Amino acid sequence: MTRRRTIITITVTAIALAAAAVYFFNNPEQSNIFPRCPIKMLTGYDCPSCGAQRALHAALHGNIADAIRYNLFLVVAVPFFLLALAASLLKNRVGRAISLHILTPRAGFAYIALYIIWWITRNILSI
Ligand SMILES: [Zn+2]
Repeated sequence: MTRRRTIITITVTAIALAAAAVYFFNNPEQSNIFPRCPIKMLTGYDCPSCGAQRALHAALHGNIADAIRYNLFLVVAVPFFLLALAASLLKNRVGRAISLHILTPRAGFAYIALYIIWWITRNILSI
């Protein structure tokens, strides 16, 4: 691993751990330190990410069912981003194999399509 890659890896890990600590120790439903969704405030409709902060807080406390209830799309988003992160950090055969399937235009379009479908569906079904 090059020095630059090591610095990036340490920085990304530190930021992720700090964010996880903030969400672990602060409940977004009870705290005013978290940003409110501008789309929800302006339109009254949920955006695809609405509930993600509450879901993260619940997941960090082991309440996976609550996390899914707050934002079902996280079931798609979290594995996708973890694989994308692993693919970008791992420069060995495993990383290249993941990159061939995850970091492709087709996978990106599929992710965006699911994101939009989720956005529409959650507002129609009020989930
Ligand atoms: Zn939102």
